[in-house]
Amino acid sequence: MSDAPLLACRNLEVFYGKYLQVLRGVSVDVRPGQMVAVLGPNGAGKTTLIRTIMGLIEDQPERGQVTLDGQRIDSWDTGRRVQHGLACVPEGREVFAELSVRENLVMGAWVRSAAAIPEGLERVYSRFPRLGERHKQLAGTLSGGEQQMLVIGRALMSRPRVLLLDEPSLGLAPRVVAEIFAILVELVAEGIALLLVEQNARLALAHAHQGYVLESGRVVLSGKAQELRDNPDVREFYLGVKQAESVKGFRRFKRRRRWA
Ligand code: ATP
Repeated sequence: MSDAPLLACRNLEVFYGKYLQVLRGVSVDVRPGQMVAVLGPNGAGKTTLIRTIMGLIEDQPERGQVTLDGQRIDSWDTGRRVQHGLACVPEGREVFAELSVRENLVMGAWVRSAAAIPEGLERVYSRFPRLGERHKQLAGTLSGGEQQMLVIGRALMSRPRVLLLDEPSLGLAPRVVAEIFAILVELVAEGIALLLVEQNARLALAHAHQGYVLESGRVVLSGKAQELRDNPDVREFYLGVKQAESVKGFRRFKRRRRWA
């Protein structure tokens, strides 16, 4: 695993309008071969971070830099960022409901030559066989899990080097979430770096290499996923562990009192 970041955000300061500052000096690194998880409560700025990296915020960051493979990209439009290897799976499974599965996938390949599309479709269908089986079906008629797979497949059609995912587990059944995370792990093993925004901290830290905790637009904690899993504040506020321990402690206390 190389030590130079593939994607690096440095001191991002991002505003909506003149006065609402949402990111306050955020720095995040994603190295090749890594899955990086960004955790944080609602409104912490996680989606804004992804939108900033993709160039989807109307005003460019007030301050700070985004680099991809050492090259500064923060003044580029979104299309150029995609051409250079970024892709995004937005929150909420935004499929083109009136288009077929196949047409949705082809939309994701707009940076590729027409000749590369059949091979791209084959790769997506072999990773997500259900999409292959339903390639003619309208995307709006798929289940939530299938739509999430379609959005991931669509992002893969541009052959990204870094894939940004916003809450891929949101609103999905545990079995489907497990299936999606197994695929994310495969993607990392195949060399795609992932930056994952996720409210399901347990799941994210179980699979990620590195993690960041964002609160009120600031990185308040960062480190190896294992270190974050062991951090008492993360355990209490994101993994709910202290609460569970105190319940156990209370049961022990009650048992002791019964025999006293
Ligand atoms: P969630 O988990 O709820 O999606 P988040 O950590 O992804 O939260 P963001 O969606 O980045 O947070 O939002 C951060 C803050 O910016 C919130 O206070 C939100 O209300 C505000 N915000 C988000 N988008 C806009 C916008 N387009 N215009 C103005 N304010 C916005």
